[in-house]
Amino acid sequence: MRVVRWSDNKVISLIYTYGSAYPMKTCQRWDRSSTPAKKVTVDCPGIVQVYNTNMGGVDKMDSCLGLYRMFFRGKKWYLRIFFHIIDMAVINAWLLYRRDFAACANPNKVKCLSLYEFKSSVANSLRIQTNPLVRPPGRPATSLSTAEARRLHNMNRIDTRNTVLPQPEVVTDMVGHFPDVRKTRGICALKGCKGAVVFYCIKCKVHLCISNKRKLLCYISWGRFTFR
Ligand SMILES: [Zn+2]
Ligand SMILES: [Zn+2]
Repeated sequence: MRVVRWSDNKVISLIYTYGSAYPMKTCQRWDRSSTPAKKVTVDCPGIVQVYNTNMGGVDKMDSCLGLYRMFFRGKKWYLRIFFHIIDMAVINAWLLYRRDFAACANPNKVKCLSLYEFKSSVANSLRIQTNPLVRPPGRPATSLSTAEARRLHNMNRIDTRNTVLPQPEVVTDMVGHFPDVRKTRGICALKGCKGAVVFYCIKCKVHLCISNKRKLLCYISWGRFTFR
């Protein structure tokens, strides 16, 4: 960490971990001692010029930080710094995501995530890795008809079509998606598959076919990010 003090129109003090005062740069200032006042070139520390060029980024970071800050009540001061750094990291990731999104071809016209959606997506991905999936309260929008529910119940099968699906990042991370065999059959989570199977991904918490008559392995296709 370095400290620089520079006498401009007022004394300016800078503390920084990036860059250096040297090599010195030049900048333009009004010389009011001469009449009429004229612009003169004066020396300034290199870090001042770096700051002036990039100070817009600091303002942008501050405004983004104020939008969806992680609030918590705690007396430990260092936790505030920790969560502030997490917030900064998420915003930096979102800015990189937006830059890459604009640079990539988008044939399916996918919508770019807002900061709120991006942050929620990151939080959900991290939450799902350890905790069981929670079904949202209230009646699901696509609930089954009573007749179909009864039919499934008679067949000793449960319907999994209304469970909350994991984030795409979790589905495709290729880590820890081990199959389990359940006592009750559930409808395969893969889009277009109506198989009712006992096989179950312990990480995604969804039923998936491991083998069926068409020799289609939904378990493998699932990791290729195909949702029902
Ligand atoms: Zn899985
Ligand atoms: Zn299937």
